[in-house]
Amino acid sequence: MSKGTVLIVDDEISNIEIMNAVLEDDYEVCFSTSGQQALETVRDTPPDLILLDVLMPGIDGFEVCRQIKADPQLADIPIVFTTGLGDTDDEMRGLSLGAIDYVTKPIQPAILRARVNNHVETKRLRDQLASLAVTDALTGLSNRRQMEQALHAEVGRLTRLGDWLTVIMIDIDFFKQFNDTYGHPAGDRCIVMVGAALTRAVRRASDLPARYGGEEFACILPGADPEGAALVAQEISQHVQSLNIPHERSQISPFITVSIGVASARCVPDMTPEMWLKEADRQLYRSKQDGRNRVTTTEFGAVADNL
Ligand code: GH3
Ligand code: MG
Ligand code: MG
Repeated sequence: MSKGTVLIVDDEISNIEIMNAVLEDDYEVCFSTSGQQALETVRDTPPDLILLDVLMPGIDGFEVCRQIKADPQLADIPIVFTTGLGDTDDEMRGLSLGAIDYVTKPIQPAILRARVNNHVETKRLRDQLASLAVTDALTGLSNRRQMEQALHAEVGRLTRLGDWLTVIMIDIDFFKQFNDTYGHPAGDRCIVMVGAALTRAVRRASDLPARYGGEEFACILPGADPEGAALVAQEISQHVQSLNIPHERSQISPFITVSIGVASARCVPDMTPEMWLKEADRQLYRSKQDGRNRVTTTEFGAVADNL
C-alpha cells in the first residue's frame, strides 16, 4: 500500500521542520506556509490528513477548515489543528468547525505520530469501504448503485448543456445454459471476461461501464449521439465475440455473444434517468426477441412512448 500523504500548514518554517522530522519516514509530507496556498494544494492534490496551524496572516486556520468542510469533495479529509498550549477556546472552535483533533505546540513527537497514525488509518479504511460499496466484487467494475448515481449526475449536468446522453444495456445470451454446461465458476470467469471486453470497448474517460446485475451490464456514454453510440455498441459486441469463449449450447453461435439495447436522447428539462434505463431495457428486449447477438437502438425524446 502506498504511503499516506500529510499536508502541514504553518506560517513558521521551524514548526514545519519539527513536524516533518516526525512524519517523513512514514508519510509523503507536503507543506504550505499560508492558508491560501493550503487551499490551493488541497484542491489540487487532496491529502489523507491536514495538520493546520490556527494563527496565520491572511486566511487563518479556522477559515481554511471552514472552506474545506464546506466542499463535499474535500470534507472527508481529517483536519488536526496545531494550537498553542492552553488555547482551549481555539481547540473548541476548531472542533466545532469539523476538525477531528488537535495537537498542542510545542510538538511532542510521540503524540503527534500516534494521533496522525490513528487518523490516517481510519481515513484510509473509510475510503476503502466507500470504494467497496460502489464496486462489483467479481468484475471490479462499478456496481448498479454507482452507475445509477452517476446517471443521475450526468442527466443533471448534460441538461444544463443540452447535450446527448446514451445508456447501453448488455445481456449475455443463453447464459443459463452456459452455467449448466460448464459450471458456475466458469460462468463467473465468463462474466469477468465480458466485463473486461466492455471496458476495452469504451474509451472515453467519462464513459462508465458497470455490472448492472447477474449477467447484465450497462454503460453510460455522456455526450454520445445515436450514431456514435451505435458504433460503441457494435464495438462491445465485437470485443465480446472475439473473446472466443466456447458455448456449445448457444442456439446462435459456437461462442459467447451478447444482446444489446441502446437508448440515446438529448437531455432537456423534465427528463429523468429512469427514461434512459427503461428505453435501453426495451431495446435490449427487442434484441433478444429478434434473435439475440445483435444491437437495437432508439433515439427518444422528452415524451417517450409508454413511459
Ligand atoms: P437470454 O439469452 O434470454 O438472456 O437467456 P439467459 O439464459 O442468459 O437468461 P436468464 O435470465 O434465463 O439466465 C441468466 C443466468 O445468469 C441465470 C443465472 O444463474 C446466471 N447468473 C446470474 N448471475 C450470475 C453470476 O454472478 N455468476 C454466474 N456464474 N451466473 C450468474
Ligand atoms: Mg442472458
Ligand atoms: Mg439476464
